[in-house]
Amino acid sequence: MLNGEKKIARPLRWGMIGGGRLSQVGYKHRTGALRDHTAFQLLAGAFDIDAERGKDFGVNICMDESRCYPDYKTMFAAEAKREDGIEVVSIATPNGTHYEITKGALEAGLHVICEKPLFFTSEEGEEIKALAEQKGKIVGVTYGFSGNQMLLQMRAMIEQGKIGEIRVVELQYTHGFNANDQADKTSDAQKWRVDPKVAGPSFVLGDLSTHTYYMSQLIMPHMKIKKLLCDRQSFVGSRAPLEDNAFVMMHYENGAVGRLWTSSINAGCMDGHRIRIVGSKGSLEWWDNKGGELKFEVQGEPSQTFIRAMPYLDESCNADERLGALHVEGLSDAWANIYLKFAIAIDAKNRNDEETLKNLVYPDINAGIDGIRWIENCVRSADNGAVWVEIENKNPQLV
Ligand code: NAD
Repeated sequence: MLNGEKKIARPLRWGMIGGGRLSQVGYKHRTGALRDHTAFQLLAGAFDIDAERGKDFGVNICMDESRCYPDYKTMFAAEAKREDGIEVVSIATPNGTHYEITKGALEAGLHVICEKPLFFTSEEGEEIKALAEQKGKIVGVTYGFSGNQMLLQMRAMIEQGKIGEIRVVELQYTHGFNANDQADKTSDAQKWRVDPKVAGPSFVLGDLSTHTYYMSQLIMPHMKIKKLLCDRQSFVGSRAPLEDNAFVMMHYENGAVGRLWTSSINAGCMDGHRIRIVGSKGSLEWWDNKGGELKFEVQGEPSQTFIRAMPYLDESCNADERLGALHVEGLSDAWANIYLKFAIAIDAKNRNDEETLKNLVYPDINAGIDGIRWIENCVRSADNGAVWVEIENKNPQLV
C-alpha cells in the first residue's frame, strides 16, 4: 500500500507544457504528479499557447511568476541556466506538437512524460527512442487509466492461469459527446481533434482506443496481435477522413480472437470503457466506471466480484493501493500511480539501475510506439476497404 513516503531520494524538478487554464487534461497531470509530493515538484511551465493566459494561470496555481514562460523553447533555455532547473517535463498539448516538443526536450537534456497518441508515425517513435537512449532519458506516455491497480490483478490472474487459455478479447471505449457536430464548432479541444493536421491520421482510434489497447497489452503482455481488420466511419460527415466510430477485429498469435469498439457517437453512453477477457475456464471483466471492482466468472460456478484493497488480491495489485477498503478511489489515483512509476523510472535511469527499469511495469516509449503502430495498422486496414492486415512487422502487408 502507498502512503506518500518517498520512493526516490528526492522529488524531481518538474515542468509542464500545455495543461493550462482551458486544457482538458492538465489538471489530471497535476493531481497525478503532485499526489505524492515526494515524487515531483512543479517548478516551471509554458502552460498555454497564449503566453499571457499561461503566465496568469501559473501565478494562480501559486508558481513563481518568473518561471511561467511564454513558450517551451524559452523555458528549456532559461531552465538550463539554473542550478535548480527542471529535469523532467510533461507535454499536455495537442497531438501534432508532441514530436517536436519531445525532441526539443530530450535535446535540452530533459526526461519526458508525453500525452498519447505519442506521435503521428512509428518512424518518429523509433527516432525519438534512439535519441532518448543516446541521451540516457526516459520517455513515458500518460495512459492514465492504466494506473488502476485492478488491471494488475487481471494481469496476475491471467498469468496464474485462473481463466485458462485466452480465447476472446472484448474491448470497448465509447462515449456519445460527439453524436452531433456542435462541439466541432464550439470547443477548441474538439476542433483540433477532427483536424488531421493536428490530430494525426485518426480521431477516436487515437483519442480513445490507444488507452484501451495499451491496457489490454498491460493485462495480457503475452498476447500479440497477428492481424487485424478495422472498419471506420465518420457519421458526422465533416469529420472525414477522420473517424468518429470504428470497429476492429483482431486475431492473436495464440489463436484467440478479439474485437474493439471505439466511438464518440455512442449517444447517451456514460460508461463505455470496458475490458472483458474470456478464457477456456472463465472470464474477467472490468468497467472503468466501477474501477474498484473486478468480475471473475468461472463456468459452472457462482460469479465473484473482487473488490479493491482486499487482502485476497495479488500483491502487485495491493502495492498500488492508496486509500484502503471502504473508500472510493478513481481516475486521479490511477494517474498518481502512473506518475509515481514515471518518477521511479527516471530516478533509476539517472542511477543506471537497469534492474529496476526491467521490472517496472509502466507505459514507456515502447508502449507509446506500440500505440502509434496500432493506429497505423487500423488506418491502413480501414482505408484499404476494411481488409485484414498482418501486423507482425513494421511495414504490414495487406493480405
Ligand atoms: P486541449 O485543447 O483541451 O488543451 C490543449 C492545451 O495546450 C491548451 O490549453 C493550449 O493552450 C495548449 N497548447 C497548445 N499548443 C501549445 C504550445 N505549443 N505550448 C504550450 N501550450 C500549448 O487539449 P486536451 O484535451 O487537454 O489534450 C491535450 C493532449 O492530451 C492531447 O494529446 C490529447 O490526446 C491528450 N489527452 C489525454 C488524456 C488522457 O487521459 N491521457 C485525456 C485528454 C487528452
